[in-house]
Amino acid sequence: MNNQKPLVVITGASSGFGAEMAKLFNQAGYPMLLLGRRTEKITALPLNFDQIMVEAVDVTDKASFEAAIRKAEAIYGKTDLLINNAGVMLLGNVWRQDPKEWQTMLDTNVMGVLNGTQIVLDDMMEREHGTIINMSSLAGKKTFVNHAAYVASKFGVHGLSETIREEVSAKNVRVAMVAPGAAETELLTHVTDDEALSDYESWKKTMGGITLDPVHVAEAVKFIYDMPQEVNIREIDIAATRQD
Ligand code: NDP
Repeated sequence: MNNQKPLVVITGASSGFGAEMAKLFNQAGYPMLLLGRRTEKITALPLNFDQIMVEAVDVTDKASFEAAIRKAEAIYGKTDLLINNAGVMLLGNVWRQDPKEWQTMLDTNVMGVLNGTQIVLDDMMEREHGTIINMSSLAGKKTFVNHAAYVASKFGVHGLSETIREEVSAKNVRVAMVAPGAAETELLTHVTDDEALSDYESWKKTMGGITLDPVHVAEAVKFIYDMPQEVNIREIDIAATRQD
């Protein structure tokens, strides 16, 4: 009997939620392709690297994204789970913010997810087996001040995920989302707008300064995947209890 587990691909594995997912799926014995631009951060994670391939991929570059997945599939077999987790959040008011920051968010958070999805979907539909889990946000369901372009990108993730789910469900392929509330990963470290950051700090006080532990987001992702293929938990919303 072949007990080999199928290939799990995680984008944005170099920090935050992605790094926690990598640990969880590694402990469960899955072969993995771990992607990020900063591969040195991935190779420094406390993982057993026997069945792990690490590739430097920018998710906005579809050709290198696809090349990395095909390379891993040649060793570990077809992708059974793609976690489109890579993302960026650059806060700021629309009247102040550099449009380059909007572009970065839309390219990474929306185009990156579409790129990954298209790369794996044909094979999943042919095999009538496979799961895509997209990392959205509560900002994909409700608005937050200083988040206009980020909200646009994550509402986009919600919309495209549900649309694709409807398109592929008859082929037994699952498309699901996790929508977390605030967690203190590296996400905020890229924000260039000091006023937006200080607004965030004030808001954080309203929830007693307690944000999500990224481990729990990783557990939500794994919970979705661990259900039988015939069951699709379409969305998990997860936030610190005190978040409004
Ligand atoms: P981090 O900043 O810690 O992680 C983001 C990851 O995305 C990094 O591994 C980064 O890797 C990767 N990444 C960013 N841009 C690109 C790119 N162009 N190509 C490839 N990889 C990229 O943040 P989180 O772990 O918090 O974020 C993970 C996801 O969760 C994101 O989609 C985010 O929007 C979402 N989210 C986060 C919340 C939070 O409060 N933290 C709440 C709700 C959703 P590298 O720089 O090495 O390429």
